[in-house]
Amino acid sequence: MTPRPSDQDQRATRDRALSDNQTTCSFCLEPTQGAPVYPGFAASICADCAAEAARSLAAGEVTDRWAGTDLLTGLARCLSSTRQAEQMLVTWVGRARDGGLSWARIGGVVGTTRQAAWERFAKRLPDAEAEHADERAHAGV
Ligand SMILES: [Zn+2]
Repeated sequence: MTPRPSDQDQRATRDRALSDNQTTCSFCLEPTQGAPVYPGFAASICADCAAEAARSLAAGEVTDRWAGTDLLTGLARCLSSTRQAEQMLVTWVGRARDGGLSWARIGGVVGTTRQAAWERFAKRLPDAEAEHADERAHAGV
């Protein structure tokens, strides 16, 4: 039997996932090669994209930057960005669980039931098996 990772190991794994998401710009989807990105809750922006955004906003010329993008390329990039945001969401759910929040409270924020929140996220957390056992124990199953 594999020993259960410690809470510290689990937090390190989640923080690594968060850090990995902060090495790719959510706007241009380019790896930052170690350059810093400005992190948001579900997106990070590189210096080049931030500069272009600042320039465009200051000029009052906000346009669809991706208007000429090949449709399939745009679709693939949108999917990559969505996956990056979803991974950030999983990271925050893990932090919420680490902070003692119940699946019911997480489900309330996500807009689902406790069970639906657990089904969506628990299996993607490092300690999913143990949490599943805990949930079953709390539910009296
Ligand atoms: Zn960028």
